[in-house]
Amino acid sequence: MNLLDIYKELNTEQKCLTFLEHMRWPEGVTCLSCNSNRVSHIVSKGKTNKKTGKVGPDRHLLQCNECRFQFSATTGTVYHDTHLPLGKWLLAIALITESKKGISANQLSRALGVQYRTAWYLAHRIRKAMVDANQPKLKGIVEVDETYIGGKQRGHRSKLKNKDVVIGVRERGGPLRLVQTPDNKADTVYQVIADNVDKDVQAIMTDESSIYNFKTTQFRNAPHKQIKHKDKIYVQGNVHTNSVESAFSLFKRGVTGAFHKVSLKHLQRYLNEFSFRFNNRKAADLFGMTVRRMALAGNMPYAELVAENAFTPFVRPK
Ligand SMILES: [Zn+2]
Repeated sequence: MNLLDIYKELNTEQKCLTFLEHMRWPEGVTCLSCNSNRVSHIVSKGKTNKKTGKVGPDRHLLQCNECRFQFSATTGTVYHDTHLPLGKWLLAIALITESKKGISANQLSRALGVQYRTAWYLAHRIRKAMVDANQPKLKGIVEVDETYIGGKQRGHRSKLKNKDVVIGVRERGGPLRLVQTPDNKADTVYQVIADNVDKDVQAIMTDESSIYNFKTTQFRNAPHKQIKHKDKIYVQGNVHTNSVESAFSLFKRGVTGAFHKVSLKHLQRYLNEFSFRFNNRKAADLFGMTVRRMALAGNMPYAELVAENAFTPFVRPK
């Protein structure tokens, strides 16, 4: 589904609910309480407000024929946010999965007609689902490079003040991993590589920096080819780090173009979102995949997210 389809086909709350139902239970609804597949759709009359006498809208529910449990497609999921119509959730997911470089909370707030804070919270919950779990280790020819986010982009490696180090590891023609690290020391960089690269890798390509040294590691038998960026050499035969660098530059255009300022605290979330979209760019239905993933991920109470990363508009220290 693209954005236009979503506008056209998911234009009522009921249609959204039905769509979510299909995403959550592709093989048919099962009861959340007893697992029975004998479940009916029922319409429950809206509640009457005692003060005003007004009757609320009818509620479309699912009811188990065995244990009589009533639930809906949003029950127990992250979508169970009474303040936000399901349509806005789905639109937000579509906007985030379709924008190559990401979308800022400001843009999202305008597009959905919600408060900035709501958009920010929404985007972070969507981002949390955009993580590839159990990722296999990279094989073949693997390129490794590091980049610095924030502060001034130019400058030497030693000037790391106010910058975040991001290690990029990419299998040539294959997946990408982006990892935020506290520093760019050789041990730190090695740990990222060990976590993400198979020990039987065909070759590792890096630049000439001394932070890349695998002689005493599990990669000692893998050919390690270094390109001399210092001598303005960027490609030598098949020795280059261009494919990881192109991912970096796309991410940075997103950071500076869409997000403007990315909090140090949240950088890894943006990196996850970016690499998820990048690695799944050929997926037939990234939107549906993300909607489904979020439904299965379970609820994320507001208190939990807030405790994890309190809402503080980020101001980078001078
Ligand atoms: Zn039941």
